[in-house]
Amino acid sequence: MLLFDAHCHLQDERLASCLPEVLNRAERAGVRQMLCCGCHERNWDSVLALAQAHPQIVPSFGIHPWYMQGMTNGWLVTLERFLSGQPSGVGEIGLDHAVTPRADEEQEAVFIAQLRLARSLKRPVSLHCRKAWERLRKILNQEGGIGWGGLIHSYSGSAELVKPLEEMGLYISFSGAITRPGNKRGHRALATVSPERLLIETDSPDLPPVGTPAVAGTPAVAGTPAVAGAASVVNEPANLALVAAAVAGILGRTPGWVAEQTFANANRLLAGIMKC
Ligand SMILES: [Zn+2]
Repeated sequence: MLLFDAHCHLQDERLASCLPEVLNRAERAGVRQMLCCGCHERNWDSVLALAQAHPQIVPSFGIHPWYMQGMTNGWLVTLERFLSGQPSGVGEIGLDHAVTPRADEEQEAVFIAQLRLARSLKRPVSLHCRKAWERLRKILNQEGGIGWGGLIHSYSGSAELVKPLEEMGLYISFSGAITRPGNKRGHRALATVSPERLLIETDSPDLPPVGTPAVAGTPAVAGTPAVAGAASVVNEPANLALVAAAVAGILGRTPGWVAEQTFANANRLLAGIMKC
């Protein structure tokens, strides 16, 4: 079974500090490729170094709405330099109405600037959206959609919004959050996604799926989102099979079908920025 982790953060200290083991476990679990997203200027260098050292790591650079403090005046020029320097995606970028302090105007300006840069370079985007679905839809409409390709990571929107987002050019990615039995909204949304638009991800080191094993040597980290059976566990790409199994159960398919479909989808979306 070959898997593609469509969204993770291997540059995070919790994973970077034990990367050889993390990548070994990923390989043994069948995770052949990983899209690794930078979230602010300070970690773009780390993402780039990881991608240069490991062909299975596909880099993406962006400013996440949680990390707008500390942006330099020249951030957009720096971003363009990173993107022009190597095949890479744009993200993690997006909107978040649940974050505090919340500065909508600035969030939207930073988001739109990155979207336009992605369009001009034809780079796939990785979107973050939390409790801002109407604004996201409106902005994407105003910007003419994402015809060149993108994904919404850890989808938490409604089932009704899936089709309009697909029509705007987006793939829909599900994380460990879909493994929670109580996540009925997520389960309903998943059931409406077109097979050729479906992706899976770990968002590691966060969002450990239910059933994540405690790995020897992996430090428990306070503040990891509590998931039944997996609280305080550092998530990693090797756990993607748990997401595939949960998605398969909800859709009435086999894990092998989910792996094959999502692997093909990720390869189609990211073909222009992959080395292997
Ligand atoms: Zn993320």
